[in-house]
This record gives sequence, C-alpha cells and structure tokens, in this order.
Amino acid sequence: MRLLEARGVSLRDIAEIVYELQKPHWPDLTLARCQASVEAVLAKREAQFAILTGVALDMLAEQGRLPQPLGDVVRRDEGLYGVDEILALAITNIYGSIGLTSFGYLDKRKVGIIGHLNEHRHGAVHTFLDDLVAGIAAAASARLAHQYEDLAQRRSEVFPPRAANGEDGPTGA
Ligand code: MG
Repeated sequence: MRLLEARGVSLRDIAEIVYELQKPHWPDLTLARCQASVEAVLAKREAQFAILTGVALDMLAEQGRLPQPLGDVVRRDEGLYGVDEILALAITNIYGSIGLTSFGYLDKRKVGIIGHLNEHRHGAVHTFLDDLVAGIAAAASARLAHQYEDLAQRRSEVFPPRAANGEDGPTGA
C-alpha cells in the first residue's frame, strides 16, 4: 500500500474504479465496500509480488538503470511489449477468470486513475503500474461479484419467496 501511495495511487482511487465496474450489478453498493475488497486483494501474496516486481521495473526504467533494449521499451511503454499486462493478470486471476473481462475493459477504456497513469507525466514511468491497478480493480470487482452471488443464494435459502406457513417473505427478497 505504501509503495502504491508513493507512486501516486491511493486505495480510494482503485476503489472508485471497482465502484464503476460493480455499481450496475449491485444497487446498494458503497465505496467503503469496494475499498474493503481492494484491501482483501492487496492482502494476497500473488498481488504483492506482482506489484513489487512491476513497480520496481517502472522505477528502474525511470532512473535509466534497466539494460537496453529493455530500458527503452519499458520507458516508452511500447504497445507490443505486453509483459505488463501479463504480469497484472496474476492479480486479476486470483478470483477466477470472471475478472478477465473487466481487466480488458479497464485496459481499453483507461478508467479513472488508470488514464492518469497512462499519460506518464513529468518523466514518470508507469508502464507496469497502470496495468497493475487495472488488475487489482478487476480482481476486487470479481471478488464482489462472487460475494453478491453467495448473498443472493443465501437470501433465497433463508427467505424463500413464500414461506410454508403461508406468511409472506420479506419484501424485496
Ligand atoms: Mg501498461
């Protein structure tokens, strides 16, 4: 989390992307719930290792310390490089392939802070970081989707549409 903050990305920035992704499917969704999901993703070792690796490469490229030609490829964020996206998928896949579609969408549409990072302002290199953020947001979103499914299933078990004793189930259940 500290490393992400140091590179200009707050948990709230990522939570806002998750909110954008999940809002249409979950009407009572809150930003706090999205942020809790982001934190759960960041607690996973796969996520931490991917972030440490990608951000280190960004920083080394920024400082001109990567060997050539890799240094120029990462600094210029060459479109055909693709290793940045592959690394981020290690995070996206934590909650199954459901995150893949969201990742592709975020990569294409550059939602929120992702678009800001992708501009590489003031000589900053965020070739890996923009994809890592998309990967974290996609995973956090997939995690919420699974929770929502579980919740809906539990509701229908506890409150069947019409109780056997003839009483109505709770409205909206
Ligand atoms: Mg990238």
